Amino acid sequence: MSQYQAPLNDILFNLFDVWQLDKYWQQQSQLSELIEADTAKAILAEAAKICEQQLAPFCGEADQRGAQLQDGNVTLPEHYYTAYQSLSEGGWTGLSGDPQYGGMGMPKALSMMVDEMLCSADIAFSLYPGLTAGACVALLQHADEATKALYLPKMYSGEWSGTMCLTESHAGSDLGIMRTTAKPADDGSYLLSGSKIFITAGEHDLTSNIIHLVLAKLPDAPAGSRGISLFLVPKYLPDAAGEPAERNAVSVGSIEHKMGINGSATCVLNFDNAKGYLIGEPHRGLACMFTMMNYERLSMGSQGLGAAERAYQNALSYAKERLQGRISEKDANKAEPIIGHADVRRMLLNIKAINEAGRTFATWVASLLDKAKYDNCPLSAQRANLLTPITKAFMTDQGFDACVTAQQVFGGHGYVKEWGMEQLVRDVRIAQIYEGTNGIQAADFMLRKVAADQGSVLLTLLADIKAELVATPIQAATPLQHYLDQLQSLTAELLAQDSRSQSSNACDYLTLVSYVIYGYMWYKNLVALQSSSYSESFAEAKQHTATYYFERILPKAEGLLAVLRCNSAIMDKFALEHF
Ligand SMILES: Cc1cc2nc3c(=O)[nH]c(=O)nc-3n(C[C@H](O)[C@H](O)[C@H](O)COP(=O)(O)OP(=O)(O)OC[C@H]3O[C@@H](n4cnc5c(N)ncnc54)[C@H](O)[C@@H]3O)c2cc1C
Repeated sequence: MSQYQAPLNDILFNLFDVWQLDKYWQQQSQLSELIEADTAKAILAEAAKICEQQLAPFCGEADQRGAQLQDGNVTLPEHYYTAYQSLSEGGWTGLSGDPQYGGMGMPKALSMMVDEMLCSADIAFSLYPGLTAGACVALLQHADEATKALYLPKMYSGEWSGTMCLTESHAGSDLGIMRTTAKPADDGSYLLSGSKIFITAGEHDLTSNIIHLVLAKLPDAPAGSRGISLFLVPKYLPDAAGEPAERNAVSVGSIEHKMGINGSATCVLNFDNAKGYLIGEPHRGLACMFTMMNYERLSMGSQGLGAAERAYQNALSYAKERLQGRISEKDANKAEPIIGHADVRRMLLNIKAINEAGRTFATWVASLLDKAKYDNCPLSAQRANLLTPITKAFMTDQGFDACVTAQQVFGGHGYVKEWGMEQLVRDVRIAQIYEGTNGIQAADFMLRKVAADQGSVLLTLLADIKAELVATPIQAATPLQHYLDQLQSLTAELLAQDSRSQSSNACDYLTLVSYVIYGYMWYKNLVALQSSSYSESFAEAKQHTATYYFERILPKAEGLLAVLRCNSAIMDKFALEHF
């Protein structure tokens, strides 16, 4: 069974030394009353305890038992009920919720760190509170006052949970062709009919009610994605006192048997004239749902990082103990710990350098969202928007690679179930697929986030990073300058291409930008070390890892630059029979 200890030191280093968010919280009038460094430390330490003690040790059992469907009811692994109770009793389910409706009002930068821990402990479990938090964000932004007052307090308290119902069997990435319908009823509500598939947490008995946010089409809907509306469909319709009463006509058809995240109930949900309430404007549902999806996409990044952190911790302790081969040739009969082998070091350091940059990056993106929300700062909002597909795609691609690499450190023992490494690989794999596949994320990044504004937000960011490098030079980060120059000129070249060529290049381009941005993250770590009071060994480890990143990982960008500078027309020369 794989172990887990929350990386609190690194989390605090990122929050308070790299991004100095304690200072920001103190200056921000809406946050200064709610949070300061000591409160954040206490919250994180308490979250770490729940993750380390109530979830992480049992995630193998959850994997084996999984979610089970019997007679229309879904039951979950036994310890999920107690862990969920601890979370809701402690207010964790409403951690970043609006205090006006009973949330704790904590900044995203803090809740994102808690998300990472939950995902390290058990990705499948993390989805139950995670989707609820996302649904609350969408309701807070788009629902009317009465709906917010009725639903948000119960969802923040963990009494009720939430889902996101988009996918249909024939409509996944292309939601415009969905068939679920919503007919207006006499009382101002709507009757929804149709079938949604792959709905995470669609049915379970962890909470006394489930609030489905469902995309469907009104009778007069324009064709395509501009004709989709958003509806709130409760499993139990609340009575006059706001308590769950009449059962709504939504039922679970089946649950999926999957590669991983077995503790998460992935359901076919059937809506048979189910009563629903319109959220936001008619036909504007996709935009409302994107509020939730963008939130969830950040959580995907936490899934990648969370799994990679746990994978690293276990590979490291195994590498220190596993005796195979000789490093020094001194004693032919004595095998030495495999961490001495150059290739094992390479594997561990590849994971470590990416994970720590990933944590700095996640904290940054979350803090940009906080500044967009609390300060109404358009630049922060634009940058968070630009970086969201990187958080989703690069962090999950790297998370999967990290788990596979950590599994490799275990040799054959990584392939068998005993050590829990194969479960990490299986569990994290989905993060590259759901919430919009990573291919769709790359297209979104290239076409909507970069090309649509002629690269303005990205190029301004790159120019600001360059100015920072000049104002506060750090010797070890010198290679970053070259890649920033290259990325600027390559971006200009890609902007001159047609959209077909841009689409062909999207995935490699997102990866290239991510490597450069992670270089900036290591630069920020090095800057922070100049004035922080961490132990000598912590500082040395950071400095060596930064150098490892600049010398052994960032140069991978050269290969991507070469690929991206080649003509992509060859891809369209393939007739179907050539494949
Ligand atoms: C375990 C699990 C949980 C899930 N949870 C939920 C949930 O809670 N709610 C929900 O609504 N859905 C959920 N989903 C659905 C998930 O979001 C979709 O599976 C995903 O968005 C991809 O859709 P698809 O499976 O139909 O693949 P498709 O859309 O058929 O895509 C197949 C391939 O084609 C590529 N592709 C498709 N269109 C394009 C394009 N325009 N440009 C480039 N490439 C393209 C894709 O990248 C992919 O590689 C879940 C799925 C799983 C497996």
